[in-house]
Amino acid sequence: MVHTADAGSQRDRDAASKPITMSVPALILAYVVVLLAALCGLGIYSELRRRRFEPMPSEDHIFRCRRCGYVYTDDPDVDRSRCTQCGRMNEAIEF
Ligand SMILES: [Zn+2]
Repeated sequence: MVHTADAGSQRDRDAASKPITMSVPALILAYVVVLLAALCGLGIYSELRRRRFEPMPSEDHIFRCRRCGYVYTDDPDVDRSRCTQCGRMNEAIEF
């Protein structure tokens, strides 16, 4: 009973004491993988930051006057709005 347990632990110690050698290609591969992972993390982080600080997109309609060319916005619930410069009714611009 005790003897077999000792033999097992002896085998584990032998396996652990083996020198861990990494070949040069493996080291380069590990380096590249770590570098790519860091770049990916940085890209995701900056993307999240950019989205957080961007202003919320406005739902307002955008109008461009057909007579004087004045560009203005109005509430999203109106389809036609009067130009504040010349008074002409204009249709909302659809994107
Ligand atoms: Zn106008």
